[in-house]
This record gives sequence, structure tokens and C-alpha cells, in this order.
Amino acid sequence: MIRLDSDIRYLKGVGERRAALLSKLGVKTVGGLLRFYPRAYEDWSRIVSIDEAPVGENCCIKAVVGRKPEANLIRKGMTIYKTEVTDGKSIMQITIFNSRYTADKLREGEEYLFFGKVSYNLWGREMSSPAVERAQGGDRIRPIYHCTEGLNSNIIEKLVKTALEDTAGSFSECLPLYLREKYGLCGIKEAIRQIHLPHSSEALDAARKRLIFEELLTLRIGLSLLRSGTRGRSGVTLKNDYTGEFLQILPFRATGAQVRAINEAARDMERDEPMNRLIQGDVGSGKTAVAAALVYSAAKNGVQSALMAPTEILASQHFRTLRKLFENTGITCSLLTGSTKAAEKRRIKENVKNGETDLLIGTHAVIEKDVEFSNLGLAVTDEQHRFGVLQRGLLAKKGQNPHTLVMSATPIPRTLALMIYGDLDISVLDEMPPGRTPTETYLITGDKRERAYGYIKKHLDRGLQGYIVCPLVEEGETELAAAQEYRETLASGHFAGYSVGLLHGRLKSSQKEEVMAGFVRGDVQLLVSTTVIEVGVDVPNAVIMLIENAERFGLSQLHQLRGRIGRGSEKSTCILVSDAQNAEAQQRLRRMSSTTDGFKIAEEDLKLRGPGDFFGSRQHGLPELKIADMLTDTKLLAMAGKAAEEILLKDPGLRSDENKGLRAEVAALFRKGGVGN
Ligand code: ADP
Ligand code: MG
Repeated sequence: MIRLDSDIRYLKGVGERRAALLSKLGVKTVGGLLRFYPRAYEDWSRIVSIDEAPVGENCCIKAVVGRKPEANLIRKGMTIYKTEVTDGKSIMQITIFNSRYTADKLREGEEYLFFGKVSYNLWGREMSSPAVERAQGGDRIRPIYHCTEGLNSNIIEKLVKTALEDTAGSFSECLPLYLREKYGLCGIKEAIRQIHLPHSSEALDAARKRLIFEELLTLRIGLSLLRSGTRGRSGVTLKNDYTGEFLQILPFRATGAQVRAINEAARDMERDEPMNRLIQGDVGSGKTAVAAALVYSAAKNGVQSALMAPTEILASQHFRTLRKLFENTGITCSLLTGSTKAAEKRRIKENVKNGETDLLIGTHAVIEKDVEFSNLGLAVTDEQHRFGVLQRGLLAKKGQNPHTLVMSATPIPRTLALMIYGDLDISVLDEMPPGRTPTETYLITGDKRERAYGYIKKHLDRGLQGYIVCPLVEEGETELAAAQEYRETLASGHFAGYSVGLLHGRLKSSQKEEVMAGFVRGDVQLLVSTTVIEVGVDVPNAVIMLIENAERFGLSQLHQLRGRIGRGSEKSTCILVSDAQNAEAQQRLRRMSSTTDGFKIAEEDLKLRGPGDFFGSRQHGLPELKIADMLTDTKLLAMAGKAAEEILLKDPGLRSDENKGLRAEVAALFRKGGVGN
């Protein structure tokens, strides 16, 4: 007997080979296959006549084949088959490229459905490479699945059909009846069937609504449960606000936006509920100073702070900056990372525990089990999108409902922010510190590379520094070899006599540290790097950056990279090298030259790449969503949010019988989704 949790290879028609292919698509069980929703649909149920067929858009035409398709060898390895079909009123040409299989299917005098794009030319209407089905039973909405080599969408559709027949009815309902009634949602069995093999577009909409709702509700409840530990009263209401005093010792004048953000956060920290605030600001907008002001105020009020950064480089940069800033203030900082020596670690932890350290800066190391604070009042997470939801929670759990601040250079739409952070306040740094000259960006082709090198050299000769970024082609050994070779070529060729450093992902943290420190000191003039410099690093003397194979990066990533320069008063230049021919890549790269506004770039990125990628689970540590799209399904998102609140209010632990199904679903989503990785 086939069950939902049966291994997929036991499904009729699967076997070892297909099981391996399905597993590539993430499908391991029969139930998994049924939860592998189509990525799109083709509507073969709306049949148009040849005359009405819209030119250049997919449509479905029912027509009789006039004669057996004729083969024409146009060149070696390329055969085209041509025939004519009619719907009784008009005639259309059918052209089939290289598919003998499709051509042989077509029999004279028989009726078929042709799905594809119609074009209009001298000879009338024509459809090239249509998908073909027999007319009987073919007029329906057909699912299109993500496929992989050796496993096309049609095969998957057949397997899904088998799975539906064999397991009919064994899905158990996870949404309680009252919820389904209240929000007008169809049952799970119906939804699963209709999402794959919809009877009508209405049935498909209903199925989508139900499944999206279920997914968003599960996610929302899961996140609420994760957070619930940090809710409640804060044990650390700050009596006095010392941020004004801090602004006096800051070596520069804070921008209006910084002052605003500091004030907003300072007001939060005077209350007896924990602050939950996001600081959003483009790269270089000065988020660190905002955090520093709050840390200062916390310390003067006698409570400790923690600052967690995603990489060791970034953590130690924060450490250097803040230690210097807090010099002569009596505020003590420590740095704890994976590469801190054991004895040192023990000493630091001791000081954090007994309250001697006011500010602990570090990587994930600060959320390790044995790190205890005497009185943690403020937990700051930098570049938050690099952390999982769980990790941020863990940091907060080191104190008694401490105030939390997260800082991000990646703009997030409000709906998504709400989903990730729950009730959260946002401060935006929409003003750059003065004295910056916007970075100029140029797009060049590979044949101009040498001239670009010459341009870089001129800068190095003036005592300035630069980066050359080469993207990861492959991870692992090859990456390493490629990066090393590239550096060697430069160091012994164009940049002979200059000091050229190398930073790549395979270095141990302490080694990265060393390289970076050399660059900060100015010992290294030109730093060749894979993308490990991406976040947060601040070296104002570095004013030039050349990015190889720029088309391999997303826009936002390029923006982050470019944000490493343009940090001083010297004019900075970013050179994008790309030989990519395709129009999309060209457009993307040109966009980089025309704006330096990170929020605009993020928007563009979203449009070009689609939200799935941009807000993929990787970025936020959220479980991957199968069907919902947090940017477009905003209505359902709001509904699910409301439902989640209602449910948790009545049954905070989801203990009741009617919520049992939901509880299991939440557990499953978060087990699979890798929250916190
Ligand atoms: P990000 O928002 O990207 O984290 P940082 O906090 O690293 O930006 O700040 C970038 C640079 O700008 C740092 O060198 C910092 O010292 C400087 N900076 C921050 N605020 C100001 C300001 N108000 N005036 C001048 N320089 C500032
Ligand atoms: Mg920063």
C-alpha cells in the first residue's frame, strides 16, 4: 500500500532512476510529490479560433490536420516538419523543429489541440513548435512543473496523477473547520487535487488561496512561537538617556537621520517593554554610530550590550571602531569570535558574566551556550539578513527581554518585515554623511581591462587603495586555484612592484583577519578578493574597485560590493567588467552605472530576479515557501496574520485538539526549513 510517507521510488512508474531525479527536485516521498506544486499552468481549456488567436501570446487552437507533416532537412541535424491545419474557418501553418515524435503523432484528418504562440506572416498564420494533444480530453488547464534533465513536466504530471489515485483521501486536514469557514477556504484534499489537475480556473484559484493561506499561517504561527520567549516586560528600562552626551564625543557631526534614529530608539529603551527596532539604511549611511550611541547610553545606565555581526572581519572591524570611540569613557569592550584563543575566551566569558565587560562584540560565538551576561540590556544584530530568525532570538534570550536592535542595508517591504520580525518599528537612515562624493560606475568589456589596470595603478601611486573582485566560479578547490592564479598573474604582471593581497572564502577566519588587517593598515595596496568583502567592511582609503564577470552578481550584491568604496572624500570609481552579450545582463549592469540609491537598486533587483530569489530563504533564514509569495500575496498575508493572532490568543501553545494538525504542520515547516541556519 502506498502512503503519503512512502518513499517515492515505490510509486508506480518511478523506480530507482526517476527517484534519483525527483530527489534532485526535492521530492523524496509520495506526499512530497503531491506537495510539489506546479510552477505555472497552461490553459488548454480556453480554445480560440485561428482568426481570433492573439499574435505572440500563448493560446490554444483546436484544428484538424490537413495532411501528414512533410519533413525537410534544412541542414545537418536540423529537420523541420510542416503541415497545415484548419478549424473549419481558416487555415494555419504548423512548423515543427526537429521533433519527429510530435510530427509522427499528427494524422491526416484528425483533430488536435495546438498550444503555442501564433505569428502572422506573408503566408498567413503560423504556429511554430506547438505542444500537441488529442482533442478529446485535452481541453483543460495543464500544470507545468519545474523539471530536470531526464524528467519533464509531462512525466511529472503523470506521476502526480498516479499518486493522487493511489493515495486518494489520505491527506489529513490541518486547518480547523471554523477557520476554513471563516476565511472561505476549501479542504485540503480538494486543494491538493485542484492545484495539480484543476477542473476550472475558479477551482484553481480556490486551491491556491487555501494552500497559500495554509503556508503563510503556518509560517506566521511558527515565527510567533519562536519569538514568544522574548515577549513580555523588559527587565531593563533605562532611567536616563545619555545618547546626547555620546553625540558630543562622536568625532563627527551625526546626520539628521542618525539623530532621529537614535532618539526613536532611546525613547523605546525608556519604556518597560523591550524595544524591537530595525534600522534600515543604505551602505555607508552610518548605522554603526547609531548602535554605538545606544550602547553608550545602556552602559552609562549600568546595563550590558551585545553586538553580533555575521562575519569575523566585520565583528573585529566593529570592535576596533567602537573600542576607539569608547576610549576614555570607561566603557569596556571585548571581542569574541570563533578564532579567539581558548584561554582568552575563558577570560572574556568570565568578564561578561561578572559584568566587567560593557559591550561584547562578536560573531555567532556570542550566542554559544556558555556565554552568560550579568545584565544584558541591549542586543544589536548587524546585517541581520545574514542571520536566521532563531539566532537573533538566541541572542535576546541571553538577557531578560533585552531591547533589540537590528541593522540592515537591505531594504525590506513592510509586509515582509512584519512577517519576519512581528511587531517591529523601523527607523530609516535616508541621509548620507556629508563629504561623500558619489561613486562613479563604468561598464567595460574585457578588452579594455588593461586600460582599467593602468587607471587603478595611478590611484595606487597616489597612496590610495583598491579592490579587484572576482566572483566565485565554483566553490571549493577550483575557486581557490582560480583566485590564487588571478592574484599571481596580477602580482607578477601588471601590478609587479605593488603589494597585492588575496582574500577568499577558503581562508581560515584568522587568516582573513590578517589579510584584512594588512589592508586596513595600508600594507596591502590592492586586494584581490572573492565576494568575502561583501558586507560592512570600511576602509575609507580604498577608492577604486574593479569587478570581474560582473554579470554573475545580482544588482543588490553589486551594490553591496560597491558600497566598500566611496567612503571618504576622495572620488571613487567602480569598474564593472563584463563580456555578457544578453540584453538582460546588459540592462542590469547599466542600471548600476545610473544610480547609487540602494533602495532603487533593490526594487530593480526584485523586478528582474523575482522575489523568490531576492527574498529567498537564504537571505532571511526563513523556511522556503512552496507557493506563497510574500510580495504579491499581501491580502492573504494580512489574513493569515490576523488568523494567527486569533489562534494563538485562544490557544498559545496550539494544544487543543482542533489545532493539532496545525501544530504538526508548523513543526514540519520549521524542521525542513532550516530556520536558524
Ligand atoms: P553602514 O551604515 O554601512 O554600516 P558605517 O556605520 O560603517 O555604515 O559608516 C560608514 C562610514 O561613515 C564610517 O567610516 C563612519 O565613520 C562614517 N560616518 C558615519 N556617520 C558619519 C557622519 N555623521 N559624518 C561623517 N562620517 C560618518
Ligand atoms: Mg555596517
